[in-house]
Amino acid sequence: MAFCLNDPSFGYYHTQRVFGQNGDFITAPEISQMFGELLGLWLAQSWIEQNRPKQFTLLELGPGQGTLMADVLRATTKIAGFHDALRLCLFESSKQLRIEQKKKLSRYAVRWETNLTSLPDQPLFFVANEFFDALAIHQFRRTGDIWLERIIAAKGEELELSMSHAPVQVPDILDKRKDIADGDIVEFCPDAARISTALSAKIENHGGAGVIIDYGNWASRGDTLQAVKDHKTVGVFDAPGTSDLTAHVDFETLAHFSSCAVSPMTPQGLFLERLGITERANILAKFLCDEALELHLAAHRRLTHPDEMGTLFKTMALYPSGQSIPAGF
Ligand code: SAH
Repeated sequence: MAFCLNDPSFGYYHTQRVFGQNGDFITAPEISQMFGELLGLWLAQSWIEQNRPKQFTLLELGPGQGTLMADVLRATTKIAGFHDALRLCLFESSKQLRIEQKKKLSRYAVRWETNLTSLPDQPLFFVANEFFDALAIHQFRRTGDIWLERIIAAKGEELELSMSHAPVQVPDILDKRKDIADGDIVEFCPDAARISTALSAKIENHGGAGVIIDYGNWASRGDTLQAVKDHKTVGVFDAPGTSDLTAHVDFETLAHFSSCAVSPMTPQGLFLERLGITERANILAKFLCDEALELHLAAHRRLTHPDEMGTLFKTMALYPSGQSIPAGF
């Protein structure tokens, strides 16, 4: 999964047109500017509630085309002191996408961070939209008291899924679960655990807050690995390197490995409603008519409605222990 997505010569994020109508999928910030605007105000509100630290890291994980961060920065221009205090940092593995981000954010000083454990010792405010679903997972199956790992095997020229012959050790968070029946598949994402540990330690020790948005749920259940090409689901072995591979995010893992406080996991639609997306949508609607207005209303529905992204996508915030829970949760 990691190789198919991130290999510098053949990886999906390095070689393909990923986003938009002509790409393989459309993400929330590409659907409407409202998404990034509200997240920008969420970040600024959290910063104000922590007494406006004079210097902080503003980090985005997996910024794609840079649209979300551009909207965050535009929406926060008028928040006195916010732009002066921020040090903009992006975490992005794709060289190709870094070029696009640089263009989109050309008015700002941007750094690309490659090591999340060496962020500066200062408050950290971060956002991650559809980042964690792109990180490689392991799959395990309980067979009585032992666990086997799902592996990829070669059968002649073909690839197929198989099971390890020898038992493997699984992380405690899976091993201790009582609700996994014999034969069930569960997933674990080691990078998600590591990244949650690194970011939460910074927030706990230096202040800040972060919001994670992704499709997924609380606790892993079943096989969620999927490949998407041209907006359609394809087999995971059909087009390695040219289809998008993702797995549902297990928010329990993110919470479990966090050393700072964690909000309840909240559906995206509810979170955006609480932040005022409908009020914002109504204001923008006043400037629109005909097809533009229809597109705008459809975008609002797409981001919030339970039949669209409203409940499949979840949000969760990290914030310092002992502080009040951030807006929207
Ligand atoms: N947040 C954006 C893009 C989501 S796609 C949006 O909402 O539109 C996933 C993003 O994560 C891409 O920018 C991809 O290149 C990046 N990414 C995937 N795996 C990564 C990894 N292991 N390290 C850093 N960035 C990664």
